[in-house]
Amino acid sequence: MITPNEALRIVLEKTPRLETVEAPLLDAVGACLAQPVASDIDLPPFDKSAMDGYAVRAADVAAAPVELEIIEELPAGVAPTKTITPGTCAKIMTGAPVPAGADMVVIVEDTEPAGDDRVRILAAHPDSRNICACGEDIRKGRTVLDAGHAVRPLEVGLLASVGREGVNIYRRPRVAVLATGNELVPITETPGPGEIRDANSWSLQACCLRAGVEADCLGVARDNEDDLREKIAAGLQRDVLLVSGGVSMGEWDLVPKVFDELGVAVHFATIRMKPGKPTVFATQGGRIIFGLPGNPVSTLVAWRLFVWPAIRKMMGHPDPAPPPVHGRLTAPVTVGGKRTFFMPTRLRSDRSGWTVEPVATRGSADLVGFCRADALAILDPGTYDAGATVQAVPLEL
Ligand code: AMP
Ligand code: MG
Repeated sequence: MITPNEALRIVLEKTPRLETVEAPLLDAVGACLAQPVASDIDLPPFDKSAMDGYAVRAADVAAAPVELEIIEELPAGVAPTKTITPGTCAKIMTGAPVPAGADMVVIVEDTEPAGDDRVRILAAHPDSRNICACGEDIRKGRTVLDAGHAVRPLEVGLLASVGREGVNIYRRPRVAVLATGNELVPITETPGPGEIRDANSWSLQACCLRAGVEADCLGVARDNEDDLREKIAAGLQRDVLLVSGGVSMGEWDLVPKVFDELGVAVHFATIRMKPGKPTVFATQGGRIIFGLPGNPVSTLVAWRLFVWPAIRKMMGHPDPAPPPVHGRLTAPVTVGGKRTFFMPTRLRSDRSGWTVEPVATRGSADLVGFCRADALAILDPGTYDAGATVQAVPLEL
């Protein structure tokens, strides 16, 4: 049985990065740039006032208080027509171009009116010129964002500033989600004897939404080979197929057999971890396929540790599986058995860093307990004292 780290390494190695597409600016949020982006202009495009006040010659105000003549008013968007000469100034607003001759903006708080078209400069601070110089952020033609950079709302602001209505990004995968199990009923129904509601096709679609990819739900396949074959084959039309359930050792766990029949290459089928041991990873051409354990917590753990990084790899993220954080356990823990335990925990911070607080759950079917967690502590078998430093994977990034 392979370790979780080996499993992740195999997943990332076998998962392709998708091709690039042109996308409208807002569609790029959550995606990664496939090409570097250069600025088409200097930023800022002109010497710009950073404050509301008076554009002056620093030499004129060195001996403040002094009085100056106001020769022009410059709201944002208005180009100056006059040059500031000794003894003169311009009233200027934040964002307006600084007129020629001026090399400082005195903030309005450091001034008072001194009659018609005159102002008294009460104080000047030579270190606070309050001018953003043309091109000081970036020069025209220089790279503002490298290829591979993930687009967040911050980058959208920058891309808009450099005039990009569209950008070249790595394509997002199309994901198919398939639940399996004879016991599953739609969530609109009250389960009868032996039945449970299908939680996983919903939680997995939600995971996809959070990861910035669209998922199609293929419904529920029953535990017979014909139904599984038909629905899994349909799912193989997508870039990613997520099958929940039917992968453990039971007599009705037919998913691996059907994968085999359909000619997908299975790379591993068990991982030395708890929960999530019967996690299957397969590929077919450029497609990736996961068979996820049916227990609702196990499915979500396997999603976080393996599917999410794979989807990020497809989308061109330079760092598809960010490293876990380190934190101090708030309570002693003993992990038995031979598998790495991914323990539901709460991550909090105190003055000396992250703390990792175990969350009581009743195991891999207990979504009630799991919903109180926001991270998974990675615990190899052994005994851990309160205060021991452990690694933890945040559930939401
Ligand atoms: P399996 O992996 O098919 O052996 O399922 C393991 C456990 O997970 C069983 O108790 C199933 O009833 C449950 N399970 C399987 N699929 C789902 C699902 N889509 N939603 C909620 N529970 C499920
Ligand atoms: Mg099942």
